[in-house]
Amino acid sequence: MGVVRREGDWRLEKRSEGVYEITFRRESQMKILTSNAPSNRNGVGFDAVPLREVSSYSEAEGLFEEKAHGPTPLGMQPTAEDTYSGSDSDVDLTEFPPYGIGAMFLTVGLFMLYAFWDSENTLLPLFGVGALIVGVTPFVFTGYLYRTEDWQSAWEFLVTPLEDRTSSDSSSSKTKKTPPTPEKLKNKLIFDRSGQRCEWCEESYDHLQVHHIKPRREGGPNDPENLIVLCPNCHENADREAIPRSKLKAKVKRLPEISAD
Ligand SMILES: [Zn+2]
Repeated sequence: MGVVRREGDWRLEKRSEGVYEITFRRESQMKILTSNAPSNRNGVGFDAVPLREVSSYSEAEGLFEEKAHGPTPLGMQPTAEDTYSGSDSDVDLTEFPPYGIGAMFLTVGLFMLYAFWDSENTLLPLFGVGALIVGVTPFVFTGYLYRTEDWQSAWEFLVTPLEDRTSSDSSSSKTKKTPPTPEKLKNKLIFDRSGQRCEWCEESYDHLQVHHIKPRREGGPNDPENLIVLCPNCHENADREAIPRSKLKAKVKRLPEISAD
């Protein structure tokens, strides 16, 4: 019958009236029966997946949230996207400028050499040397840029976080890239505002995407007014501005208002 909630690789899917299933990458993790599930349980299945009975749909949603925010099922590594869209506490080296990364490795390297020089374990000081080499690399490359280009590009290389490099080819732009849209807001937009339809062509769709009208690389915010739910087709058109931003903006203005949190 369809996906009713989605969070990363987790999905809450409706199988039939009152019968729900929580899946992770399409693999069943739990079945849920609400009070309006048929009393005839044929076809619901009592396999290895746990079965829970709840009194209402909102409890099923609660179970889903719990699962989706809990640990990843055994044997399934989180995808790169998962780790990135996650909390701010994740350490992402691309957020640091090269001099910071260099200094970090130099510190670790010096510490390891100092602490483990006399150790029986010959590997640890070697790691220290490795860290020193990695740490020195950004500074060597800066020197190289200084020699081959000019001090400006050398300086810029040293202080620009790797993340900002790909988003702006013109080094003058100082806008900071907006972080990805929080899953909670995405769900609100897809399930509550759009009713699982493309907000441009109004076609019902299983794989909807949330598009930033003013792009993230230009600092377009994660506000409901800057976000529109699109089918892959319209998304592509919006990305190459075959649908002008002004028209998307006007369309969003006519949609019901929702709060950002
Ligand atoms: Zn569409």
